[in-house]
Amino acid sequence: MRLTDLSTIREIMGRHGVSFQKKFGQNFLINPNVPERIADAACIRVDEAPLGILEIGPGIGTLTRELSARADKVVALEIDTALMPILEETLADCPNTSVINGDIMKTDLSELTEREFVSKGMRMSVAANLPYYITTPILMKLVESRLSFETITVMIQKEVAQRLCAPAGDSEYGAITAALSYYGKVERLFTVPAGCFLPAPKVDSAVIRITLHKEPPVTVKSEETLFKTIRGAFAQRRKTLANSLGTEFSPLGKDGIANAIASAGLEPSIRGERLTLEDFARLADALYENK
Ligand code: SAM
Repeated sequence: MRLTDLSTIREIMGRHGVSFQKKFGQNFLINPNVPERIADAACIRVDEAPLGILEIGPGIGTLTRELSARADKVVALEIDTALMPILEETLADCPNTSVINGDIMKTDLSELTEREFVSKGMRMSVAANLPYYITTPILMKLVESRLSFETITVMIQKEVAQRLCAPAGDSEYGAITAALSYYGKVERLFTVPAGCFLPAPKVDSAVIRITLHKEPPVTVKSEETLFKTIRGAFAQRRKTLANSLGTEFSPLGKDGIANAIASAGLEPSIRGERLTLEDFARLADALYENK
């Protein structure tokens, strides 16, 4: 079964009376190399332990089949109930795969991964061709869950991939880039042109892989203050760091903020986008102590 063939997709969807749902961000892969490459990147084996993959949004099962061929177990979570009968058919010959009809944003991932992978002694990772309308909330939910995922390999909009991989000082570097770097190392793997999807989206895509840190790369007195500092530093991008932080840390006053910036060893005129995660950690501790 070649699920990337246009005629196959149209035949299966037509037979089941299913059409593309824009509201669920449905753009299905029609280039066979892409799901293979995503699955290769997601299913890395570092030891003998069995590998479980959580897939978000299997669609009609194109990437799911490639994951099933490489992992020991695949659990695919799909919001669109109308796709369930199609997935039953397209994954009928993939016994290591199960589909759950549900919304990733409303799913208790701790309970799901414990039941499906952890209790079975499996390592686990995430793979997805993400629906673009909720890329960032999904990524933040996955990393903030602090579950023992090893990698998160996802296709996202090319512009978002650029932002997530940007180094400090780059114009694309933002609060999300710095926050994500606390949880893992982000690599951009390859670009996927819009023509590789049905229907074709307006923009190109890119596949990224986040390798989650076992321990955070910096130690801070308060994680909450770290993320508040990152948010504050980018709140008003055109302003200096001291002015931008004023929104999140108003009780400290101008002097308190200036003192914290100085005790973190940073220039008063620096802009937030130049700060590395290590800078943010020192600054967050200084702001925390000044509070
Ligand atoms: N994996 C398929 C492929 O690569 O051809 C489909 C990818 S399509 C870009 C995104 C998929 O995510 C769709 O099947 C859509 O219905 C599903 N989806 C959208 N929102 C979701 C959510 N909140 N939870 C779970 N699945 C979702």
